[in-house]
Amino acid sequence: MKLLIVILAIAVGIWLWRSRRPPPQAAPPRKRPAGKAVAEMTRCAVCGLHLPLADAERSARGTYCSVEHRRQIEG
Ligand SMILES: [Zn+2]
Repeated sequence: MKLLIVILAIAVGIWLWRSRRPPPQAAPPRKRPAGKAVAEMTRCAVCGLHLPLADAERSARGTYCSVEHRRQIEG
């Protein structure tokens, strides 16, 4: 019985010690990295879909989510 109490005390001690320390792989605070990591977003002139500018169908008259939507506006 004495051994069980000792083991329990050690287990609680380890648990307390571990819970006080931050986890080693703690997720970093969600901060948006400024610059290249965040894709510049644009909006389709037809359906209003938001999409990365790099994926958008661009023209002098606007940006679109697809060729079909560009044709819908520009013919
Ligand atoms: Zn669209």
